[in-house]
Formats: sequence, C-alpha cells, structure tokens
Amino acid sequence: MRRLMEQLYPICRSITGLGVRRTLAIIREQLPLVIHEVPSGTQVLDWVVPKEWNIHDAYVANARGERIIDFRKHNLHVMSYSRPIRAQLSLSDLRAHLFTLPEQPDLIPYKTSYYGEQWGFCLSERQLRSMGEGRYEVVIDASLVDGALTYGELLLPGAEADEILISTHICHPSLANDNLSGIAATMALAKRLNARAQRRHSIRFLFVPGTIGPITWLARNQDTIACIKHGLVIAGIGDPGALTYKSSRRGDAKIDRAAAHVLAHWHRPGKTLEFEPLGYDERQYCSPGFNLPVGRISRTPYASYPEYHTSADNLDFVSLEQVEDCLAAIEATIDILEQDAHYSNLSPYGEPQLGKRGLYSDISGHPDRRRQETNLLWTLNYCDGRHSIFEIAEKARRPFAELSAAARKLEAAGLLQKLR
Ligand code: ZN
Repeated sequence: MRRLMEQLYPICRSITGLGVRRTLAIIREQLPLVIHEVPSGTQVLDWVVPKEWNIHDAYVANARGERIIDFRKHNLHVMSYSRPIRAQLSLSDLRAHLFTLPEQPDLIPYKTSYYGEQWGFCLSERQLRSMGEGRYEVVIDASLVDGALTYGELLLPGAEADEILISTHICHPSLANDNLSGIAATMALAKRLNARAQRRHSIRFLFVPGTIGPITWLARNQDTIACIKHGLVIAGIGDPGALTYKSSRRGDAKIDRAAAHVLAHWHRPGKTLEFEPLGYDERQYCSPGFNLPVGRISRTPYASYPEYHTSADNLDFVSLEQVEDCLAAIEATIDILEQDAHYSNLSPYGEPQLGKRGLYSDISGHPDRRRQETNLLWTLNYCDGRHSIFEIAEKARRPFAELSAAARKLEAAGLLQKLR
C-alpha cells in the first residue's frame, strides 16, 4: 500500500483525463480491472459526462521570467479543470484568480472548477505576500475538449449473485489521505478477497471519479443495482482519527449493523454516524431513488481536519498503520456478511454436557476460559434455527468472530447443525 501511494502521489488526477487513466493502469498491474471509457456529452441520470481535462504545464512568471508559481513543483498550484490561458496580467488583475488559505499561510489549497469554465492558481498566503506589483506572465497549457470519463471496475464472482459493492474515488491530485489512502486500501482489500478460496457474495469494486463517477456507473448499470445487498465507500482512512462509520440512508441495513458491531468491539473505540446527504460517493448510492444499503468508512470526517484539501495532506500525514487497521475492520465487517449462518441446536432440552464432548478440556487451560465457555452457552442457546450467529452476537454483545468460532466448534462436536 505504501508503494502504491508513493507511485500515485505525484500524478495530477482530476475527474477525467490522463491522470485517472495512469492511476487505473497502475492499479491494473496488480488487479484485473476492467477500464470503462464513457464519452463526453453522454447523458447520465441528471448529469452529462463533462469534457476531458488534461494539463501539460502551468506557471505564473515574474518580469524576470522566473516561474514563481509552478505546476511542476506541485500540481495543487493549478485549480483543477482550469481552462487554458496565456496572458500578461497586472497583479491586481491576476489577484482574482489566485487562491490562498490566509489562516494556514504555509499551505497550498486544493481547488476545483469542474463545471464552470474558469481558471486559477492556488498558492500559499506567504507566497502571495511576496509577490510585488508589476506584470506577470500567466500560462495554463491545458486542454478541455471532448474525450471520455474513465473508471475502473472489478467483479469477484461468489457463490451467490448477491453483491457487496466497494467504491472509492480516484479524482484527487497530490493529496494522500483524501484520496490515496482509500485507493490503496481498496486495492489491498480486492487482492485479499480475490485470494479467498470461496466467497458467498459476489464483490464488485469501483474505482471512480467522485460524484460524476458513481452517477455514471449507476446510470449504466440499472440491471445490476438490484443485486447490491451491501456496500461500502472507503475514503480518508489514514489520518490519526478514530474509525468512523457513516450509516446508509436506510440506517438499519445489515452493513450498518455489521460495521457498528465491529467498531463496538474494536481494540480502539470507533464512532458511528447517522446518514446525511453530504460527504463522498455514498450521496449518490444513497440518493432516494436508489437508496442502496451503502455506508462509508473513514477516520476523521472530511473537511474537519486542518490538512484536508491542502498541501499538508501529503504522504507524511498518512499512517500506514492506520490504513492497515481500517482495512482489518473492513475485512471483519465483510466477514460478518460472508460468514453469518443459521444453525440448529441438536440437543436443545437442557444444556448439553460440554465436558463429556471434550469442549471443556479443549478450553480449560485457556486464559479466556470463562469467556469461551460463555460464548458456547450463548451460541447453543440461541441456535434455534431462527437467530443467525450475527443476531446472537448482537444480542450477547460479543464479537461475531468469537461466536462464529464457537458455532464451528459445536458443529464439530455434533451439537449444532448448519441450516443455511
Ligand atoms: Zn476531497
């Protein structure tokens, strides 16, 4: 994941163009992604696929010809989707096109102008203050022409047609937590799930540009949508904050309950938030017409950490341990969806004697002996064919993985029979 983030960090991505294509090509070196190209002008739900934007070079030079704002030094210096321009401007005329963060005078902001034909440069407040009066040469060597919107898709088939959708955005330039942490974790997750010998659900991965990407996918895949039974948007998971799960609009979907359960038992406390129509691509999946059971996993919510959408969101800001920890929580959540099962107790009249079946001796030397014994008793009592292991775990307020292990042990001892 670290290597991928280092490879992707310098690339100037936007919602369309070569940056996205290069990013997907790098991911495809490790995953058999299908790359889709949707022509500019295509109607997608209430939107239209925009023109494709590509940038080659951009700078502001002073009278001595020195590039004082230079796209080659940092791709955040150019407002994303800026229209091309070549001009000589006074500082006061240029000023309207310069964006800074006066409160964070050393940082370059990240700005976009996707759907209006504007141009602009982003720079630190300190840099702006050092610019004297005089004329400046302004060059944005970019193209904004009919092309395509590019996204990547991977379907890992499972035993069932029911799907888990995993979606991450791929449209930000040199920003690490938002959004390279999500890309790296999604890729690693796909590799791990691909390596599993069997999967119950089919698992669909989308690497899409924000907003217009999921809108385009939803518009083109109306037949697939009914198969999506659970889903997760992964975004911003490498910062120091606590794990945060934002529920789907439904609020009581199985993914909502599974993620809340995992966070409640996680080794470090996590948070769950109710749905709101703000944030990342869950806004599209959870728009009322679709209302898909798709939640979002993040750490500190977007826009509420000082590094957000600035040059300080760099590779040093992202902790690989935090990304890995989140990935483990996502896997634990998916395990609930994949492994939940109903069993029937074959000895339901009185508690069966665990000792004579070796179930005590099995755990007697274990430091968690009492805990394991309790897991066995909860599992035995509620495996009546009606309660699934996950429902028992919720009821018992015990981790799903422990009760699932207890059920397998009881099944091996002939006390439970798996129903479905
Ligand atoms: Zn963002």
